[in-house]
Amino acid sequence: MLKRAVFFFLALASLAVLIGWQLQRSQRTKRFSQTHERSARHRLAKPPVTTFVTDSGGRELIVRLLDIEQGDATYIRNGSSRVIIDGGPDTAAFGRYLDSLNLNNSTIDVVILSHQHLDHYSGLRELFKTARHIHVRYFFENKDPAPAVTLGELRDSILSRMDRDSLIYRDTDDPCSNGRPVCTIAMSGGAKLHILAPLANGDGPNNRSTAVKLIGPDSTSFTMWLAGDAEHEEISWFETAGYARNPGMRVNVLKADHHGSCNGVTPRYLALTAPQWVVASLGARNDYGHMHTQAKDFYRGALVPWYRTDQNGTITIRSPGIVGGGFTITPERGGTDLDGPSDRVSRQPGCVTEVR
Ligand SMILES: [Zn+2]
Repeated sequence: MLKRAVFFFLALASLAVLIGWQLQRSQRTKRFSQTHERSARHRLAKPPVTTFVTDSGGRELIVRLLDIEQGDATYIRNGSSRVIIDGGPDTAAFGRYLDSLNLNNSTIDVVILSHQHLDHYSGLRELFKTARHIHVRYFFENKDPAPAVTLGELRDSILSRMDRDSLIYRDTDDPCSNGRPVCTIAMSGGAKLHILAPLANGDGPNNRSTAVKLIGPDSTSFTMWLAGDAEHEEISWFETAGYARNPGMRVNVLKADHHGSCNGVTPRYLALTAPQWVVASLGARNDYGHMHTQAKDFYRGALVPWYRTDQNGTITIRSPGIVGGGFTITPERGGTDLDGPSDRVSRQPGCVTEVR
C-alpha cells in the first residue's frame, strides 16, 4: 500500500515537473520569436546607428569602422583610452555615433584627422559642440593651409579648446614634437598607436594622409594599418620612409586607402602589409565608382577578403588583449567580398593598365 502511494506521489511529481518545463519552454519560445520579430522589424526600419553598449573598457581592444556614408570615421577603445580617427562627412551622422557610443561627457584622448578633405574632417566639428561636454586631450593633423570654411570652423574650435581646456594641438609632420617621424601613443589597456608623419610634399591632400599603425595589447594577436586616402605616390613612399621597418607595415587588418579606390592600393602595398582582411569605408551611392574593380581585383589576387561599410554596416574588430587571444571581425550585416551599386572600373591614370 505504502509502495503504491510512493509510486503515485512520484508519478504526480514528475508530471508536475514536466508540465512546468513545458510551460517554461513555450514561454522561452514565445520570447525567442518575439525577439526575432522585433529584430525583423528592426531590420526593416533600420535606425541610423547601433547602440554600442558593450564598449566597457578593460584590456580588450575594440575598433569600429563606422558606417558613415562616403567618408572615414574610426573609433578605437582600449582600457579607458579612446581614440577617433576622422569623423566622416556629416555632423549629424557622426553626432548619432557619439550618442550611441556614450561619448557625451567623456574624454577622447586622441583625435587624428588623416587629411584635409571634408569626408574626413566635417563630422569632427560635432566633437566640440558645447552641449556634448566632450574633452579632447590631443588633436593631430598636418595643419596644411586649406580655404574651406568648415575646416576653418573645426580649427577655430580646436584653438579655443587649447585656451579653455588645455587641448594639445599636434602637427602630424612632427607628431611628437621631437623631430621624429614616428610618435607612439600608449593606450591604457596596453594597445599602442603609432602616428606616422606623412609625405612632406605629397601631391594633394590625399598624399598628405597621416598613416596610423595600431597594435593590440597582445601584438601577436592584432595589428592594423590605416592610412587615410593615401594614393600611389604616398603608398610607395611609406616604404622609402622606412615605415616597413619601423614601426613595420605587416598587419592583420588593412583599412583600404581612399575608400577602395584603385589609386589606394598596389600589389607591393599588399605584399608589405600582408593583411588577412581589408576593410573599406564608403557610401553605397558615390560619384567616384568606389570600390573600383581594379582594387577588388588586387585584393582578390592577394587572397584577402574584404568587408565594406556601405554593404556591411559598421565593422567591429575585437581583440581580447590576452596572449594568443587573436581577434574577431564582425560586420553588422552581410557576407564578405560584396559588390556595391557604384562599383566600376576606373579609367584614371595609374589605374588603366591595371584593368583586367
Ligand atoms: Zn576620403
